Amino acid sequence: MAYDNDNIFAKILRGEIPAQKIYEDEYALAFPDINPQAPVHVLIIPKGQYISAADFGAYASPQEITGFYRALSAVAKKMNIEESGYRIICNAGPDSHQLVPHFHAHILGGQKMGHLLATTG
Ligand code: 5GP
Repeated sequence: MAYDNDNIFAKILRGEIPAQKIYEDEYALAFPDINPQAPVHVLIIPKGQYISAADFGAYASPQEITGFYRALSAVAKKMNIEESGYRIICNAGPDSHQLVPHFHAHILGGQKMGHLLATTG
């Protein structure tokens, strides 16, 4: 599957769709999810063109992977959920229900997160 240059997050990276920048460096950009599922719900995306967690893990450079994880930590700190805790979710492939085909991590916090998976839905 080829990377789709017209996906929503590619447009956010190019500045064609607005997003509030919570964090940005040479490797990653973080912005609030438009449909938050928790008091803190931030999306973190790499600047490189990777479709999914699987694609990123297989093909991103060590610098890109390190940069991405450093960005995750920086966002947790900036959102004041480092101490209280948070959940990171990355989807890959059809069973995961990934909707946007540009790799992203959801960072969720600000409340007790409950069990790992919902039983339905
Ligand atoms: P996925 O299901 O692909 O892991 O999650 C994609 C996420 O992107 C969803 O939680 C959805 O609310 C969010 N999203 C979709 N379109 C936009 C948008 O235009 N702006 C922002 N900030 N988030 C979006």
